[in-house]
Amino acid sequence: MMDYSVYKEKSIEGRYITMESIGSCLSKLSIAPIPIGDSVNGVVINAFKLGAGDKKILMWSQMHGNESTTTKALCDMFNFLGSKEPLAHTILKHCTLMIVPILNPDGATVYTRENINKIDLNRDAKNLSQPESRALRELFESFEPDFCFNLHDQRTLFSAGKTNKPATVSFLSPASNKERHITPTREVAMKLIVAMDSMLQNHIPGQVGRYDDGFNDNCVGDAFQKLGVPTVLFESGHYPRDYSREKTREYIFLSILEALKTIAENKIDLYKTGDYFSIPNNQKLFFDVLIINPTIVNPEIETGHAVGIRYKEVLDDHKISFKPEIAEIGPLEGFYGHQTIECVDNKDFGFTTSQKEILDLLLNFNK
Ligand SMILES: [Zn+2]
Repeated sequence: MMDYSVYKEKSIEGRYITMESIGSCLSKLSIAPIPIGDSVNGVVINAFKLGAGDKKILMWSQMHGNESTTTKALCDMFNFLGSKEPLAHTILKHCTLMIVPILNPDGATVYTRENINKIDLNRDAKNLSQPESRALRELFESFEPDFCFNLHDQRTLFSAGKTNKPATVSFLSPASNKERHITPTREVAMKLIVAMDSMLQNHIPGQVGRYDDGFNDNCVGDAFQKLGVPTVLFESGHYPRDYSREKTREYIFLSILEALKTIAENKIDLYKTGDYFSIPNNQKLFFDVLIINPTIVNPEIETGHAVGIRYKEVLDDHKISFKPEIAEIGPLEGFYGHQTIECVDNKDFGFTTSQKEILDLLLNFNK
């Protein structure tokens, strides 16, 4: 078994990851960065080319500036590929990787999904209105990849199917037309996802989900798939108590590695398209905190109702803090909390000091 901790890039952790924070990881690389364009604010966007094989794989992370887990996993991957592991050798022999660690550096700095012009780059594949979108498209056209990995984070609200398990990792083989036909291109991406899911089930059983494949050719994945290149969407999700997404980072690293291994060793066709459809569809069943019987805290809240709290991620002095907000009040049957608080006593509500903010929210709530 490979020991992940050996390859984990120690210079970065947590959710706030910028060009600056990955600087020391990238400066260790013996390869020169390839500038592919400038962001709106004039930050150079770099790609890194590794390997010399005939299977070409293009990956980009943080096209959504506040989605940094996959960027951390890519830094771990650079360490792995620079090691003496036989698998690293196999991958670099059979594949050529083109990796963009941060596509949206301005959004990363201010911790927003969108770029600095408030444009969602993953809804700009047709218009190509932003320099970051054009940089990726031009790289796609010049590199001519055989596979694309589109790397993201998802919110904590997703469950893997109608279960009480969070979707710690989710995938999608995007549609390439409105009819959502299963084209040969989509099938290749589906098989790669099945390979990764099979591996992940040994680590996080029941915690892998699949996204809805509604077609939108303004999304980059759909657009590239439509152009005939198998494209896999990766989504890093919630692992219990891991708001810094350091555990999920490991599962994303292992997923990317499994996909590269499957491609390098020519094993894609060992997997079946049908198994892709056995991966449960993501559902939105989670709150960060679910409060049962909140009437005890505040009689204004109807008896029998529960309160669902979601955290808002706030950038505060180079760190992300998690600010609770009331998302929903109602019977909330069939919903789950990453944490559940049951109010049972009039004096001791069961809230710890760190949950004082949540208690204040409840006390101040009025209809
Ligand atoms: Zn995203």
